[in-house]
Amino acid sequence: MTRKEWKIQAARRLACTDAPALTAQLLLCHVLGIDRVALIAHSEEAVPEEVEARLEDLLARRSSGEPLAYILGSREFYGRDFAVDEHTLIPRPETEHLIETALELFDRRGMADAPLRFLDLGTGSGCIAVTLAAERPAWRGTAVDISSGALEKARQNAASNGAELSFLLADFTQPLPFEPASFDLVVSNPPYISEEEYAELDAGVRDFEPRSALVPGPEGMEHPRAVEAAARLLLKPGGLFLMEHGWLQGAACRELCHEDFWSDVHTGLDLAGKDRFLFAVRTEKK
Ligand code: GLN
Repeated sequence: MTRKEWKIQAARRLACTDAPALTAQLLLCHVLGIDRVALIAHSEEAVPEEVEARLEDLLARRSSGEPLAYILGSREFYGRDFAVDEHTLIPRPETEHLIETALELFDRRGMADAPLRFLDLGTGSGCIAVTLAAERPAWRGTAVDISSGALEKARQNAASNGAELSFLLADFTQPLPFEPASFDLVVSNPPYISEEEYAELDAGVRDFEPRSALVPGPEGMEHPRAVEAAARLLLKPGGLFLMEHGWLQGAACRELCHEDFWSDVHTGLDLAGKDRFLFAVRTEKK
């Protein structure tokens, strides 16, 4: 079978998944170790039998609902590759808004090259912390996660993307070993899905992504609440707090930010126009 023929029959077998033709191409590239340009340029070459056998296995995994990112072992985020596995959530495009917002605010403050300190609570694959550190090498970041498997991936992703970071294995719902008022930026994409919503999620998410990275407790607000408490304690006056949340949690997250401690509290939208992240600045008072 030629590469082209393999792609056509694979896309047909993946018809019930999203983007079947693209998935077929990416699987073929992955197993052959080539990029899409090379694949298209040499589409009449034969697929060796042992390669076909490996592809068969990957096709079966995708057909059974396993997300492509886990099969390929990586996902692109803000233009960089991030290794992912069963210990890490797959980075989502909506999380890129946190990056854009943080970069923009500190650029405006003239702090792009300042040695500012930032903290990423619940770093998972490290996509947020690694991207910030790679985009702004002068910044000093610490990435926290309770899962040693996730932290290992985050370290790997920092190394492969040339980002310098500190890592801490810790539960951010408990006191963290940092000086109060010592960070310029606290960023987080915590687990925020309620048990009820979890039951309604796609099987591809429920069956393959780590539940602990998605569900903090029955209500969904348990970790967002803990993250606000940590940010309130650890941010310097004027420091920025950015936290992703569910599209129905905009008001609940703004309410976490009491006016005694926070100013400029508002909700950022994702590309679908839905409430997606909390923006707040730690006040100079108190
Ligand atoms: N910070 C990581 C991400 O944005 C992990 C988030 C999580 O596990 N809840 O993908």
